[in-house]
Amino acid sequence: GRKFFVGGNWKMNGDKKSIEELANTLNNAKLNADTDVVCGAPSIYLDYARSKLNPNIDVAAQNCYKVAKGAFTGEISPAMIKDCGVKWVILGHSERRHVFGESDELIGQKVAHALENGLGVIACIGEKLDEREAGITEKVVFGQTKFIADNVKDWSKVVLAYEPVWAIGTGKTASPQQAQEVHDKLRQWMKANVSEAVANSVRIIYGGSVTGGTCKELASQKDVDGFLVGGASLKAEFIDIINAKA
Ligand code: 13P
Repeated sequence: GRKFFVGGNWKMNGDKKSIEELANTLNNAKLNADTDVVCGAPSIYLDYARSKLNPNIDVAAQNCYKVAKGAFTGEISPAMIKDCGVKWVILGHSERRHVFGESDELIGQKVAHALENGLGVIACIGEKLDEREAGITEKVVFGQTKFIADNVKDWSKVVLAYEPVWAIGTGKTASPQQAQEVHDKLRQWMKANVSEAVANSVRIIYGGSVTGGTCKELASQKDVDGFLVGGASLKAEFIDIINAKA
């Protein structure tokens, strides 16, 4: 079985006070032990978040660069992330792709470098509304996945996050059927292009307006192995999402 995985992506939100409060809330909550829990903190708070959260809750960076060090003003490396006791990085998030113009090629290079340096990678893909309406969802997500897959040797360190862009921050959660359909197609793609073993073991998580109210039915879908949560991960509601399978 695939272990349920729930990531929070705090994006550019919070401060020391709110992070401490959220950490206290999560630390004192009863969290399903059968779920991997990861909180994606802003880079400047990675060390702080790590120091405040209980060890059973992992921390993720929200991005990193593709090389180890050097003259890259404003960037952070996987080695720096690990130095803060942080084990995960989110790469290829929709906002990195569409607000900051990151290409499939750059995201692939980042995935390769992060994995080579021992980080787990939450690799994000997802179609825009016009792409869904044009009927090219599969073409788009398979294309994005190929750039990721070409850079992965050890799939046990990768979680694939399907986040349709039209569902992110809009309140328009994909229906359980819409999520299941794409997750199933992605698993078939993995079987054809990577291996059957990887297709069966890789966690494919859903992101896009997941709430305490929508999480349970989504979690009951065969190929939905968890969530990547934005807005609701900043609130106590995140606990209900972590426990969606309980
Ligand atoms: P929301 O849950 O706020 O829609 O954000 C989803 C997301 O982008 C998680 O990475």
